[in-house]
Amino acid sequence: MDNRIEGKGRCLCGAVEIAATTMNTQVGTCHCRMCRRWGGGPLMTVDCGTEVVFSGPQHIVRYDSSDWAQRGFCSRCGSHLFYLLKDGGRYFVPVGLFDEEDRFQFTHQIFIDRKPAFYSFANVTDNMTEEEVFSHFAQKEGGS
Ligand SMILES: [Zn+2]
Ligand SMILES: [Zn+2]
Repeated sequence: MDNRIEGKGRCLCGAVEIAATTMNTQVGTCHCRMCRRWGGGPLMTVDCGTEVVFSGPQHIVRYDSSDWAQRGFCSRCGSHLFYLLKDGGRYFVPVGLFDEEDRFQFTHQIFIDRKPAFYSFANVTDNMTEEEVFSHFAQKEGGS
């Protein structure tokens, strides 16, 4: 993919550093209820694939938020570090942890039908509803 670059990021206190070798610079936002409860608002992440190395692993707390996903945060400062798809080990990392800000493009939003009415992004993006997200992944799993 053309949009993949190396990304280096860190949590607020610096106890955990992240090195991603194939970070997609397209930013996705999730409006689902779990993401909004986790972070207090929509979750903006970049797909870092499977090649992600964390320094300071002793500071990472992992929470199994569903059968298929795990969420990680720093035990010292509470910064959210990743949303991990357990099957396949694909990391989605909050975009705010990285410094390459001018290289990111906000391109897609998921669970758009779960977004509460009190906010909306002005960016023009590709959007998927909950049903579209689940059927998209079901198709991939069943993939011929
Ligand atoms: Zn920290
Ligand atoms: Zn979500």
